[in-house]
Amino acid sequence: MSRALDLTPTARWWPSVLWQTTTLTLDGNGARLLVDPGIATWETREAAHDGATHILITHADWDHVMGIGLLPDTQVWASQSAAERIRSGEARASVESESRPYGVVLEGLDGMRVDELVPANGEPYQLGPWRVESHATPGHTPDGITTWIEGAGLLIVGDHLSQHEIPFIYDSAWNYRSTLALLTELIERHRPSHVVVGHGRPHAPERALEIAAQDAEYVNALIAFAEAGGTPERADDVPFPDRGGHDDAGEHRSNVERVCAQAAA
Ligand SMILES: [Zn+2]
Repeated sequence: MSRALDLTPTARWWPSVLWQTTTLTLDGNGARLLVDPGIATWETREAAHDGATHILITHADWDHVMGIGLLPDTQVWASQSAAERIRSGEARASVESESRPYGVVLEGLDGMRVDELVPANGEPYQLGPWRVESHATPGHTPDGITTWIEGAGLLIVGDHLSQHEIPFIYDSAWNYRSTLALLTELIERHRPSHVVVGHGRPHAPERALEIAAQDAEYVNALIAFAEAGGTPERADDVPFPDRGGHDDAGEHRSNVERVCAQAAA
């Protein structure tokens, strides 16, 4: 039995054992695209299956980039700001430090790179054999992108719309709010067959819209709280969605601290 789940005749979801981190593969015209290859070396190699030609990175957090160097013959696409996080060595340093508690085998980190910059302005472009469009979707991190692959019916949103955890707002709640509005609009406009998220099984569009609505309610409440002069000591005044993440309460407190600091600045 394979750990992979067939989404469509050409698209497969490959969850990592760690946090169900998504590697997606998409086949077409002799090409194979890997989205966010990782986490373990054997997981990346199993998904690539000797046939990978292209990689798309949703954002440069460590768990989404660590398989790049194992696939030297692929063309790697990422946003300009994700490329900068990789070029500067920031992404590699975080792979090395963040993976340590899990005893992840590190290999090929010298090969971390980006070859092509994604135009994240919503204009269609050609990624290998696929006609795609990408949008800047900051909020979780500043470098996030969302990509619509028309021919495959897939909307790939990175670390937003997770059903396993509350929003992790490392960038800005105001950006997160705009991103949720854009994701909602894209899902309603395209009606994707699957909304591919960075962690957990891809969603049907109805489920993705439900999560987007809950997350928007949460982020709006955070912003209202901070703009009304709320302080981190009163974090419990803002309810957060029930997702069952192992540290949702802790993540909520850091969200409140960050949004209060940003509102005060
Ligand atoms: Zn992630």
